[in-house]
Amino acid sequence: MHSKVLIIGSGPAGYTAGVYAARAMLEPILISGFQPGGQLTITTEVENWPGHTEIQGPDLMVNMEAHAKSTGVKIVDDHVTELLVDRHPFMAITDKGSHYSADSIILATGAQAKWLGLPSEEKFKGFGVSACATCDGFFYRNKKVVVIGGGNTAAEEAIFLTKFADKVTLIHRRDTLRAERILQNRLTSNEKINLLWNHELTEILGSENPLGVEGIKVKNVTDGSEKNLECDGVFVAIGHSPSSELVINKMDTYDGGYVVTEPDSTKTSIPGIFAAGDITDSKYRQAVTSAGMGCMAALEAEQFLSEQGAD
Ligand code: NDP
Repeated sequence: MHSKVLIIGSGPAGYTAGVYAARAMLEPILISGFQPGGQLTITTEVENWPGHTEIQGPDLMVNMEAHAKSTGVKIVDDHVTELLVDRHPFMAITDKGSHYSADSIILATGAQAKWLGLPSEEKFKGFGVSACATCDGFFYRNKKVVVIGGGNTAAEEAIFLTKFADKVTLIHRRDTLRAERILQNRLTSNEKINLLWNHELTEILGSENPLGVEGIKVKNVTDGSEKNLECDGVFVAIGHSPSSELVINKMDTYDGGYVVTEPDSTKTSIPGIFAAGDITDSKYRQAVTSAGMGCMAALEAEQFLSEQGAD
């Protein structure tokens, strides 16, 4: 299959790129990846998407998908496993074994949750350790949970978990939160939430048979002292890393894997390949900024194709 514009990823960046490319009559193909709709499908309320004072993340993504489809974007339920960028047209090979050649590509593969990297975290993943309160919070009705992190995600997860858990302890390695002020206020005014400052999680403790979390070991970073805390679940919310495996060592990327783009542009170091959203943005990482970059990528792809005489 050949397309003028191949979009990889189905978050706000990918769908917005699709809408713009379709309206420019470029008949884009969008390959949605393993998590259609992206990170917003595992959030709850979104309160900063213009036009909605509040909308559920999954609903927002269903709307975006429907909008993209209605403009003529061909959405493919598959996952790109290999990208050949040293030839033109470019070639994407998918999990299902399909080959897609393309005159231009928009990378919109987003980002994924980071983990602490502890052996005990790996051991209890899915057995009391999670990176998604929306997915797993329900299992902690009337229980005690901890959330690790100090950003917006950690604050939102902690607040969301109070719907189920009796007690939520937010553990942060510093004494100030990165989360927005409005979320900080909601955290501190919620009676079910405790904040534990200046502590790092060093080990997750639990039972072997059945496998399950029973507590954690934390270290005070100011004096090095350690203590154990009882809990039934651990939610890790320490940020995200870009999903750029397809292009690492094939184009310019920063330390940490973010794709380098030209200033005020979505152009990557390979002409004809554009990057939009969390794969390239280590700073803003918002749905609305991702959508904006998706728009830019489609407009720049259109210009590229026109210069190549391929539009
Ligand atoms: P952030 O990078 O903003 O925050 C990560 C947090 O985890 C920081 O507090 C950081 O600590 C802590 N952390 C990182 N690594 C470790 C570690 N190894 N051990 C312990 N703690 C660690 O990530 P988020 O996922 O919270 O947010 C990502 C982006 O998405 C942000 O731009 C955020 O604003 C946005 N977002 C917006 C939402 C909204 O608007 N509703 C909702 C969710 C996210 P430290 O502070 O010390 O660096």
